[in-house]
Amino acid sequence: MSDSRPAPAHHIAIIGGGPAGLMAAEVLSQAGARVEVFDAMPSVGRKFLLAGVGGMNITHSEPYAAFVGRYAERQAQVAALLQGFNADDLCQWIHGLGIDTFIGTSGRVFPTDMKAAPLLRAWLKRLREQGVVIHTRHRWQGWNADGSLCITHPEGEIALKPEATLLALGGASWARLGSDGAWLPWLQARAVDIAPLQAANCGFEVAAWSQLLREKFAGAPLKNVAMHLAGGAPRLGEAIVTAGGIEGSLVYALSAQIREQINAAGQSTVYLDLLPNRAVDNVAAALSKPRGSRSMAKHLHSALGIDGVKAALLRELTDKATFDDPQALARAIKALPIVLVRPRPLDEAISTAGGCASKGWMMG
Ligand SMILES: Cc1cc2nc3c(=O)[nH]c(=O)nc-3n(C[C@H](O)[C@H](O)[C@H](O)COP(=O)(O)OP(=O)(O)OC[C@H]3O[C@@H](n4cnc5c(N)ncnc54)[C@H](O)[C@@H]3O)c2cc1C
Repeated sequence: MSDSRPAPAHHIAIIGGGPAGLMAAEVLSQAGARVEVFDAMPSVGRKFLLAGVGGMNITHSEPYAAFVGRYAERQAQVAALLQGFNADDLCQWIHGLGIDTFIGTSGRVFPTDMKAAPLLRAWLKRLREQGVVIHTRHRWQGWNADGSLCITHPEGEIALKPEATLLALGGASWARLGSDGAWLPWLQARAVDIAPLQAANCGFEVAAWSQLLREKFAGAPLKNVAMHLAGGAPRLGEAIVTAGGIEGSLVYALSAQIREQINAAGQSTVYLDLLPNRAVDNVAAALSKPRGSRSMAKHLHSALGIDGVKAALLRELTDKATFDDPQALARAIKALPIVLVRPRPLDEAISTAGGCASKGWMMG
């Protein structure tokens, strides 16, 4: 006689309730597993919610080749993952949660209200309806001698032996939101190959801005500029001058290359184009027009619209001889070199590079 009872569901523990852990919980519970999520914080998805504060960028609408090209030397690895779930699938998934999206002028995709909270609420509701059990204030502390997971919570300690454990612990930035990188020595002790954790999508520092730039222009946005590294194609966008250097979307886009150049040579030079829509000859011609008794600052403003933080940066990073020579000044306006010497601290970064490098181990 055949046994018609359903096979008992596999019990899977997911450690970490950020977007990576929650997505794993959704897929595994849909596949019939009994899923428990454990998170150290009083609520899940805290960094995800922070991401929604400045406008939650979900994905990009550009054609596939450009999209996958952004992953540079990891392209082949990521392409294989995108075959299973690509940018369109992600948008459809969000629409399925009742959240509309729109494409911004840059081609980036956002939820209609730019926020993460409504998305997270709808997602958690779906997960609970699917039977996922979420335990907050439950901190995984490594493995016990018998191989069980050691999990502490306000009332005590659990030794858990699920059939499988999925670690979705995030990197090591914004530790106060949960991902503190405490797991690193526990995995190293199990002979997992760990690449050093480093800031990714982060700001960088110069050796020192002048007092004037620091005090008058820290926080000032550089709009409609372009940026490139030596030999690289310029990217159009925005950056921000900070008290110690620069940050913003253009800097983040180049941050992996900047970081690697600093690691290798102690510094990296980015070139800022203050007038990306004008050719260098055109800029030089405008600068060469007689300015009469007007100051150079007024001339720059009236002939080229350069003032405020752009004019201050130009002064900061060029010498008097350059200012006196329209050709040299035009070249500086089109490729103003900014020497960066270090990334901002890892805890401030938007994402973390490095982590589990062994096959079969991946990091969020
Ligand atoms: C300011 C800012 C803006 C951002 N903007 C965007 C954006 O617009 N678009 C975008 O796609 N991304 C953005 N990001 C990045 C995005 O937030 C992260 O890529 C994403 O949160 C990573 O997800 P994760 O699940 O891998 O890790 P995390 O979100 O860090 O989640 C890890 C979870 O693991 C838990 N955990 C860690 N250790 C333990 C332990 N020992 N026991 C139990 N639980 C543990 C933590 O509490 C946490 O909840 C932004 C980030 C920041 C900081």
